[in-house]
Amino acid sequence: MIGSLLRAILLVAVTAGFFSAGPLRADEKSAAARALLLTGKYEEAVEAYATLAADDPVAAAVGLARAKASSGKREEVAALLATATSEHPKSAALHAESARWAMARGDLAAARKSATTALELDDESLLARWVRAELDRTSGRLDEANGGYKWFVDYYNAHDVKDAESLHLIGLGSAQFARWNRLSDQFHFLVNELYPEVLKIDPAYWPAHYHAGLLYLEKYNQAEAARELKAALVLNPGAAEVHAALARLAVQNFDLEVARQSVERALALDPVNLDAQLARGDILLANFQAAEAIPLFQEACRMHPASEAARGRLAAACAVVDGLPRDLSGTRVGGMIDRATTANPRCGEFFASLAGALDQSRKFPAAARYFRAAIDRMPQLIEPYGELGIVLMRLGDEVEARRQLDQAFAIDPFNVRVNNMLKVLEVLDGYALIETEHFVVKFDRGRDEILARYAARYLEDEVYPDLCRRFQFEPSEKSLFEIFSRARNTSAHGWFSARMVGLPFVHTVGACAGKVVALASPNDMPKKFNWARVLKHEFVHVLNLQQTDFSIPHWFTEALAVGSEGYDRPQTWNDLLAERVPKNQLFNLDTINLGFVRPQSSQDWQMAYCQADLYARYLSETYGENAQAKMLSAYRDNLDTAGALRREFGVARDEFERGYLTYVRKVAAGLTADSAAPAVPLAELERSHRDHPEDQSIAAQLAAAYLARKDYPRARALAEAALRDARSRQMAAYVLARVRLAVGENRAALALLEEHLDRESPDESLLNLLAGLRLKAQRYEEAAALYDLGSRRHPTAGAWRRSLAKVYLAQGNDVKLAEVLAQLAALDADDLPIRKKLAQLALSAGDFATAARWGREALFIDVMDVDVHRLLGEARVGCQDLPQAVEEYEVAVKLDADNASLQLALAEVCLKTDNHNRARQALEKVLELEPGNARAAKILEGLAR
Ligand SMILES: [Zn+2]
Repeated sequence: MIGSLLRAILLVAVTAGFFSAGPLRADEKSAAARALLLTGKYEEAVEAYATLAADDPVAAAVGLARAKASSGKREEVAALLATATSEHPKSAALHAESARWAMARGDLAAARKSATTALELDDESLLARWVRAELDRTSGRLDEANGGYKWFVDYYNAHDVKDAESLHLIGLGSAQFARWNRLSDQFHFLVNELYPEVLKIDPAYWPAHYHAGLLYLEKYNQAEAARELKAALVLNPGAAEVHAALARLAVQNFDLEVARQSVERALALDPVNLDAQLARGDILLANFQAAEAIPLFQEACRMHPASEAARGRLAAACAVVDGLPRDLSGTRVGGMIDRATTANPRCGEFFASLAGALDQSRKFPAAARYFRAAIDRMPQLIEPYGELGIVLMRLGDEVEARRQLDQAFAIDPFNVRVNNMLKVLEVLDGYALIETEHFVVKFDRGRDEILARYAARYLEDEVYPDLCRRFQFEPSEKSLFEIFSRARNTSAHGWFSARMVGLPFVHTVGACAGKVVALASPNDMPKKFNWARVLKHEFVHVLNLQQTDFSIPHWFTEALAVGSEGYDRPQTWNDLLAERVPKNQLFNLDTINLGFVRPQSSQDWQMAYCQADLYARYLSETYGENAQAKMLSAYRDNLDTAGALRREFGVARDEFERGYLTYVRKVAAGLTADSAAPAVPLAELERSHRDHPEDQSIAAQLAAAYLARKDYPRARALAEAALRDARSRQMAAYVLARVRLAVGENRAALALLEEHLDRESPDESLLNLLAGLRLKAQRYEEAAALYDLGSRRHPTAGAWRRSLAKVYLAQGNDVKLAEVLAQLAALDADDLPIRKKLAQLALSAGDFATAARWGREALFIDVMDVDVHRLLGEARVGCQDLPQAVEEYEVAVKLDADNASLQLALAEVCLKTDNHNRARQALEKVLELEPGNARAAKILEGLAR
């Protein structure tokens, strides 16, 4: 076989040389033409088949049809096959080929007629058998279709099939038979035996890789799918269907840019390729652009009128745009569903496609409804069971989800997402549960019990009343929160991600699909974070999604969630704004959603949150306090953002975007001054200075650059001249002072800095250096005044305040220290040490209520920190809140049982609450740890009396 391949390739070279060699035999010409076809050289294949026409007109016509069809010339294919069949009416191969392409262009009657003729001529025409089975399937004759697929299995068992094309068709037929009859072993056989066998017979036969890739894709085995599809492309870079399949894989992963490129390639090769047209619309659905997807799906339906996949997606896109009322009569979607079910009562594929596209658009309840419809209409299908199970998991219905997933697993044990989801359910089986009036919290009892207790209480007592009032909405059912921790060699985050999508790529720590919130346990994460803030944030999503019937766009609910957290804009966002706004590197309403779902970098991801927050602020500041509520009600009425803006505020989207941009620029303008000017390369500064020796601000910059390289003589020479210019004198003074400091002339340096500091508009470097010198000299009042000047000029930059805190700490000025630390805490929700320090300061000052507040905030970051519980215990005692004090000490001794002073403190509070038994227990523990503890002994003695 290899020999004949080499010969074929050799012949390709010959035919490519304008047939200059001697005349070829017909089988040689045929092999050469086929080699061109299989490597995607379609135009040359057309020429090569044309030369074959005289020798073997049937093979030539079939080859020509395939070469032209591969580049989307469907009309030409139909015409040339019509001519060929009229010339050779007894050729089963030609009729079968006609049937195949008639089916591809949606002319089902013609397809059936040709298939029937072909089978009358040759009952074992595999292609005609395949077409007929497929026609039976798409017209709802499922028993006949099943019989048709089974025929391939029987044929294979009865014959020793040795050609690639026949084996390929057998693969297609037996895969369908295996799916419908739950013969999951067949999948193994196909990818491990049959397709490799095809490639052994004909190593150039790329469809074997392609179909193996599709099987893997169907099972979400993305690595293997990618490997097979890429192998197919190596053999034939011109296979449009392979590019289309790669697009589908990329859409699965939200790699929408990659998907777009693959779609473009596919459509450039074959403009009518159905899968590419579907993927093109799917990309828009994944990007929440259902309205834009509609014309694309309409075009796909027009070109492929028989495709249930195309019509299902079109119906979904219309449903997203128009809304999905309970009663569908009179709606576009209702009409489409009626037409689909009339045309084919067993249109399971229509409903599966509709449901899948709704799922993609985050319309989870509707997706579940239509996956069920798909199963009802066509129980043979395998995907809808698993998909339904996964949607039900998202909706928090774990009991029903398990039932579906078990069924899906029995049907198809190779589906990766189904497998992962079942493992998640097993993990959840071992979890404990806390139920409150409005929440159910599931957690790992061994690891997260303390966290779960505090989380449940925080959700119930604070988050629920606060947010339900703010959003004027209460969910009809309890909301489910699941805290995942490490188990079975999988990280907390791995479980969390599997819980949300069944695959390991969600990159946040919390996520919400509308009714259930999953969270990776903060106790298992490498860096502490404010879990309470995450809970609150996610519960905003729960409310927003439910109150708008899952119609709120991603960016808006993120904006509302961020806005509800109650923290200042973090420094990272300010830095991003300062950097990106001048460069116009901004998201708009079209692109921002992807910034959350599939950001290019963590910076992009941060930027998406930052910009969403600014959109919401801009809305309120421009259209009033209730503007956000108005947007929510417009989304609930199923308007898109443009429609919502028009209805609520009479503003066009473009105009809104322009106003927003102006607003963002204004916000950023206040920030640009904060960030240090970008470093200009030394060579460039030297050139500018040569060109403009009179410009002292350039000279001062160059001096600073020399200073950074410790080239003091040159730095000094330039700076001395620049000192005389008002614009550059602060920077020059800074450079000169640093040069003086370098040689120990501290007094002279100080004098320079003081003389040239402009208190109205201080240079940051100068101010910082002077303040630092004052601090070092323990001249605290002056240092504080200078740092304070800096922090007032740059209120969002934490560095000045941190320096200020250092001064107050050194000075022992606790009042001022607490003040500045509180400002720093507002800037960083995840900073534990600051909050602990604030709690301590308040305790020492006897301000127990404030101590309790900071202690609680510290717990929101680390619920396992013993010191925090101790501080809180003391604070609660001070507030006379004794039951809560007992609780904090109980947690503290749980975390650190061998700490005698904690046990003693616990005993003392227990005494105050008359719980003598517990007090005695704790005192005995103290004496066990410290037999000589006199205080414990004395109290115990008192108790005994
Ligand atoms: Zn969020």
